[in-house]
Amino acid sequence: MEKIDYPNSSIFINKSFVNFFDYINDVNHLDVLYLIDENVLRIHQNLFKDHFKVISIVSGEKAKSFESINKIIEKVIALGGNKNTCIIGVGGGVTCDVAGFIASIFMRGVRFGFIPTTLLAITDASLGGKNGVNFNNVKNVLGVINEPDFVFIDYSFLKTLPSLEFVNGFAEIIKHACISSQKLFVDLEKNIDDYLQIIKSPEHANFNKLNSLICDSIKIKLDIVCVDRNEGSLRKNLNYGHTFGHAIESKFNLSHGFAISLGMIFSNKISNKLGYIANTELLRISNLLASYSLPVDTFNYDKTDLMLLVQKDKKSSGQTIDFIMLKEIGSCFIESLNIKKIIDA
Ligand code: ADP
Ligand code: ZN
Repeated sequence: MEKIDYPNSSIFINKSFVNFFDYINDVNHLDVLYLIDENVLRIHQNLFKDHFKVISIVSGEKAKSFESINKIIEKVIALGGNKNTCIIGVGGGVTCDVAGFIASIFMRGVRFGFIPTTLLAITDASLGGKNGVNFNNVKNVLGVINEPDFVFIDYSFLKTLPSLEFVNGFAEIIKHACISSQKLFVDLEKNIDDYLQIIKSPEHANFNKLNSLICDSIKIKLDIVCVDRNEGSLRKNLNYGHTFGHAIESKFNLSHGFAISLGMIFSNKISNKLGYIANTELLRISNLLASYSLPVDTFNYDKTDLMLLVQKDKKSSGQTIDFIMLKEIGSCFIESLNIKKIIDA
């Protein structure tokens, strides 16, 4: 069990949800209101049966539409939400976004915290204070950077997480390793059998085996965010694989992890062609992604179509795009690349 204090948030790792009530009762004389992912609420309803201020959040990206946010705020008000309300988001990245966004604007901002229940939300989405929602089908176009008071991580929620969602989480963990930690990368290679076993049958898993991996991943993300909260420079490194990834995610209806896996491959190929990352490292990364069942085959994608998608996604009318490229595993840099140069590469 671990507690990490960052400037604006406390992160409780590998805690039991039972202790959460002690924590919340101790520090808060606040009025607690839960926004809970509908699947998490259905599967884990026993945990929440004594709490009457619970709002169910529909599963998936549609929860982040403005219409959905509107309805949730109506329910917050109907349940007596006020300046002293503490909103707690329980679910994956979508629920964290919705809860963080609503808490940040309701009554000009109330306290909030997250209980992330997907591997992706534990290692990435619940951290760093970005809370975005969609508007007119444009993703994350409205939002704030505002850190939760706390992130409370109980691994036992992962027992019911579908395998595909684990794989999405591993994609972000591999990203963290690629941009800043050889050690994490080696961990992902060396302990693959244990991790694949957890992905395959989480209901019987010993999640302590994931502890060091999760802690490393959390620290990598938060150390970056601490230095550059508003994404002036260093935080951009977290976008490795996301330039192409975002562009193809909705167009080809891919899950986030699958899209950024391909995004990382594209980025590595360009970096390799420009003489940065070596062939051997490139191969090690694609082997690792493939062994976690992430896609690595980019041949089906036409390079000119892709560049058009990237340009559209970035709403960039200019001829250059900021691109995160690896020098080697564990080390990356930003390069502003000319679009023609990318196509040629
Ligand atoms: P992400 O965390 O990858 O952004 P979402 O918030 O969209 O993803 O959650 C992914 C899916 O997993 C959703 O369908 C959600 O209902 C479901 N889910 C989240 N946590 C759990 C859990 N612990 N057990 C079962 N299903 C879960
Ligand atoms: Zn991502």
